[in-house]
Order: sequence, then structure tokens, then C-alpha cells
Amino acid sequence: MTVEFICVGTEILLGNIVNTNAAYLAEKCAGLGLSCYFQTAVGDNEERLTMVLRTAMERSDIVILSGGLGPTEDDLTKEVAAKVCGKKLVLHEPSKKAIKRYFEEKGIEPTDNNWKQAMLPEDCIVLDNHNGTAPGVIMETKESKVILLPGPPGELCPMFEESVEPYLMGLTSQVICSQTVKICGVGESRVETMMKDLIDAQTNPTIATYAKTGEVHIRVTAAAEDKKAAMKLIKPVVKELKNRFGNDIYSTEQDVTLEKAVVDLLQANDLTVTCVESCTGGLLSARLINVPGVSEIYKSGVITYSNKAKRRFVGVKKTTLQKYGAVSGQTAEEMAKGAALLTKADVSVAVTGIAGPDGGTEEKPVGLVYIACNVKGKVTVKKFRFSGNRSKVRESAVSAALALMRGCILEYFSKVTFGKKNQNR
Ligand code: ATP
Ligand code: MG
Repeated sequence: MTVEFICVGTEILLGNIVNTNAAYLAEKCAGLGLSCYFQTAVGDNEERLTMVLRTAMERSDIVILSGGLGPTEDDLTKEVAAKVCGKKLVLHEPSKKAIKRYFEEKGIEPTDNNWKQAMLPEDCIVLDNHNGTAPGVIMETKESKVILLPGPPGELCPMFEESVEPYLMGLTSQVICSQTVKICGVGESRVETMMKDLIDAQTNPTIATYAKTGEVHIRVTAAAEDKKAAMKLIKPVVKELKNRFGNDIYSTEQDVTLEKAVVDLLQANDLTVTCVESCTGGLLSARLINVPGVSEIYKSGVITYSNKAKRRFVGVKKTTLQKYGAVSGQTAEEMAKGAALLTKADVSVAVTGIAGPDGGTEEKPVGLVYIACNVKGKVTVKKFRFSGNRSKVRESAVSAALALMRGCILEYFSKVTFGKKNQNR
């Protein structure tokens, strides 16, 4: 089955808002095994919306529209879509009551135009909106299913998950399942090269890669008559990926993030951790502390931004700073060792680098970052060269630090032979 999206809003065309709904819907629908060949953004204009909706209905089984369901004059998606589908708008009493209740709970008076949102196409499926006033709508026509969703992501996403996803799943007798293999510390092009033959040969399951900062996710998706049969198709592919990527895979679980994998590893090995950060300025600690239950293993961290702080708090030697500079492997190593001494943590990680936009030289360009990881006295130092703006460099450094920590801990406990040597996972 094919799906396409029409995101309605002049704001999108003017670049005032980023079309995150399109990205969200595309990823969700791909996960459901639907094929998407077109996405359109169109302004709040009756004629042009009519035109793109007609075209979409001619070529796609499912058309999902986002935005323009609100109460104001420029919100015209529902009116236009009903007209194109040949349906009249009629008062939908439950929606009227829900709108009334919504305003009562908020303690504000509805304005006259709010009731417009209770006028819905005849014979449509109404999707409750628990986060706003505009209900979603599904219209089934001979040509296609037309689904209208509110524009604000805080309303669209929960409505999609609660109502649209089950509806779409019910349209086919097939079940779509997927599993994501999450890799850190390996670049996207290398990941793709290592699995090119699998990508080229894919049919069912399909294999798709998604690059994240410092990570690559490989999603394996299968369609079958039931979940068990779909998982049976997925399993050998995931096994093959595990063979190829070994311990560079940090998880195959849906809700395990890289930082959660690191925290789990620290907890499993009964290790405390500390971070001493320069250019990342606390971002690394913040990501670790985002994981619930981290208090067992994270006691304290330090931000040593200036040279003085590097000397005073974690004992980096003056001569080291003079000879090699603040952004150097030597400084990173001394920072990590000093932090371990200061906090008595089993694992200490140090990050020092040039986030830019200024401060780069030919010898030490913007994006140069050294990360040191010390596991119970065994120190590993790695040099990185990240691209992008200041925040991208800092985020990349944090992900690389997490990946390095993971690698060093696994290595320390000899649980790892990196890469494809590890065939037993
Ligand atoms: P409202 O009742 O708030 O008017 P609506 O369904 O009419 O909702 P719009 O008026 O089109 O939706 O958009 C409202 C807000 O939702 C926008 O200002 C924007 O913040 C967000 N929004 C709309 N479309 C998108 C999109 N495609 N991607 C991300 N955000 C969006
Ligand atoms: Mg609106």
C-alpha cells in the first residue's frame, strides 16, 4: 500500500517552521511497511490544496494531511478535504461536548469559531484529540483513505499513535514488525559498505539505515501473517548483522539509548563514573544523568574550561599545557587521571577540543577533539575530527565519549574483540 503526506501551512512554505510532521509521519509509516513516494507542503489556499489533494488521491492508497484543522479563518483543510471527497460537514455532537469540556477544564470561554471544529464530514471516522480541540478525521472514499490530523506535533503525534496506527494496521491482513540494530562508533558509510550485499538483496525483511549523531541505526522490517512469523523473518537478518558488527552494536532494544547502554554496562560491572569536560561543558554528564537510576554509579563530575581550572581541579601539569596545549591527547589523559584521583571513580572520561567557530589553527582545526577514558588505571586516548557547527561538534564529542567508554569498559573486562571477530553474540 502507498501513502503520501500533505502538510498544510503557509508558515512551512515561508520557512517559518520546520516540517517535522512530515519527517515523523514518514518514519512512522515506513515502520508500518507502507511505501511513500510523495510528500507535499502547500499553503493555506483552497485552490492549491484542492489540486494537490486530488493528485494525491489519484496516485496513493492513503493520504495523510497535517495542519489547518484549527478554528481560524485560514484553517481550511477539513472544508477542502470534505469537498474533494464529496462529503457534507455536519455537526458532530460528541466533538462539541469534548470542545466544551476542554474549555471548561482550562477555565476559558470558547469563542464562536471554536464550534467550527465540531463540524465534521458525514460518515467519517472521528479521532479524539486529548491534547487540543480539533478532532482528527478519516474519510474513506473509493479512491483512497484520507486522514486529517492537527498541525501541532504535540497533538498530531499522540493522535497518530493512539488512533491512526491501529487503523492503518487494520487495513491489511499483514502484520508489520521491525527491530532496530543500534551501532555506535562506526560511521554511516562504513556501516553501509559492510552490509551492502544485504541491502542490495533485501525484499522481506527490508533493511534501512538511519544516521544519528555518532550512531547508526539499522532497521529490519518484515511483513507476515502474524507477529511470530514476522519475527522469524527478522531474526536471521539481525543475527547476521550481529556477526558483522559484533560489539559495535550497543542494543537491539527499542528504548535503549546509547547513554542507557553505557549506564547499564557500568551498573552491571559495579563501576562508578566521573566526567571531566572542557568543550562539551557538562553535556556528557547531562546525557548520562538523563538515564533514570544513574545515581548508583554517577557521583560527581567537573567542568574544567580554562587552563587554570584544568590545573587546579584535576591536576593537569603546567608543563603539559605549555608543551602540548589544552587540546591534546596528553592533556586529555591527565584530565582523566586527575578526575579519577579527585572523585575516586572507577571510570573517568575527559573531553577537550575546539568546538569553534573561532580558536582553530592549521595544526589544531575546529572540530579537533581528544577524549580519554580511564578504566581503573588503564587509559585509552583517542583523537577525533568532527565537522559541523559548534553545537554539532559538541554533540558529536559526547556521543564519541559514550562510545569510547563502552568500548573501554568491555575491553577492560575482556568481553570484547571488536568488529567482526566476535562471532558469538
Ligand atoms: P491550531 O488549532 O493550533 O490552529 P491546526 O491543525 O490548524 O492547529 P496549523 O494552524 O496548521 O494547525 O499549525 C499550528 C501550529 O502547529 C503551527 O504554528 C506549528 O507550530 C505547528 N505545525 C503545523 N504544521 C506543522 C508541521 N508540518 N511540522 C511541524 N509543526 C507544524
Ligand atoms: Mg491553525
